Amino acid sequence: MTTRKYACRQCGNSAQLDPSNPWRPFCSERCKTLDLGEWFGERYSIPAEAQDDFNDAADLPPPHTPRPQ
Ligand SMILES: [Zn+2]
Repeated sequence: MTTRKYACRQCGNSAQLDPSNPWRPFCSERCKTLDLGEWFGERYSIPAEAQDDFNDAADLPPPHTPRPQ
């Protein structure tokens, strides 16, 4: 048995891993496009508010403020 089959990472259907399948390891162009779309979606969804949080923390007083005696 030399038939190599693989579960498509996107839809779980069997996908061919041989060179006749240009969309491997996915079963179709649609599944490959969907997977790439999810990756880019995550990258672009990173909020830019992280930098604002950092600036707010810098405005806080230092945690080790010595008490006057
Ligand atoms: Zn698929």
